[in-house]
Amino acid sequence: MSFERVAIIGLGLLGGSVGLAIEEQLPKIATRGYDRDEQVRIRAAARGLVGEVCGNAQDALADADLVILCVPVGAMEATANELAPHLKRGAIISDVGSSKESVAKALAKALPGHIVIPAHPVAGTEQSGPEAGFASLFVNRWCILTPPEGVDQAAVEALSDFWTKLGAMVEIMDAEHHDLVLAVTSHIPHLIAYTIVGTASDLEEVTRSEVIKYSAGGFRDFTRIAASDPVMWRDVFLNNKGAVLEVLGRFTEDLTALQRAIRSGDGDTLHNLFSRTRAIRRQVIEEGQDDGRPDFGRKDHI
Ligand code: NAP
Repeated sequence: MSFERVAIIGLGLLGGSVGLAIEEQLPKIATRGYDRDEQVRIRAAARGLVGEVCGNAQDALADADLVILCVPVGAMEATANELAPHLKRGAIISDVGSSKESVAKALAKALPGHIVIPAHPVAGTEQSGPEAGFASLFVNRWCILTPPEGVDQAAVEALSDFWTKLGAMVEIMDAEHHDLVLAVTSHIPHLIAYTIVGTASDLEEVTRSEVIKYSAGGFRDFTRIAASDPVMWRDVFLNNKGAVLEVLGRFTEDLTALQRAIRSGDGDTLHNLFSRTRAIRRQVIEEGQDDGRPDFGRKDHI
């Protein structure tokens, strides 16, 4: 099974990157796209994110054998409801949402009788919108598929092959497990960044201008993550509530233990933890998940 026509719904960072990656890696596939925002459609067409930008979802779906929803996770169910009457029989419906259990439920509810295979390419940036996408976003990044039980295996293989051809490494996972893993590796780190940037800017004894001026002391790296799209991240936390609250509980306990170590002058506890975390950073670089250069390619590293 291979795809001839792909429809992309939502033409922001992820939708645009999928379109550009298809054009580069699978040029025989015809792509159509739709976004509810007219300005986004105009900008997407100007950048050539898909072969044809359509004025409505129905036209974008015409004859598509793969439909990829690239909208915020909170918008998946409404989007799927809107698409349902226009889907071609036998089409595979997938998505790129950052949480999977609630999306899987929403899509199953909205699209009974259709082949639904949720997916999450673990690749992104803090940018959003149609100008943010680029063709190589998925290269050497994981794409996690969470096929529901009993789904057509040939369809899973076709979707897996599709993502592999876009440059990704594909992993199959249970949706609940995906949400726990991503709570640890992505959702809680974003929550911490949002918190620390908010706290620093609220501190009355340090002026806002000093926070910005001396940001290279570490704060700057948090500000990049904390600049991520507010709608997307609001939806991630509301849709992965269980796993996020579970990991947050554990994180709070660990933070309290560190607070105690600092108060009681327990340098060994601090040193042991910081040594362990430094080793994890080395592993991340060895596995090609980040750039090992001290400046991440920046010119002005301190
Ligand atoms: P984005 O750049 O903001 O693009 C989303 C686009 O979808 C926006 O243009 C939005 O329009 C449009 N949209 C919203 N509801 C719609 C609807 N009902 N019908 C058609 N279009 C609709 O966001 P993104 O970063 O690409 O994120 C898209 C998805 O990818 C999310 O589910 C997110 O969890 C997932 N994801 C993101 C990243 C990342 O790093 N950003 C990484 C992996 C996965 P409006 O502006 O009018 O709402």
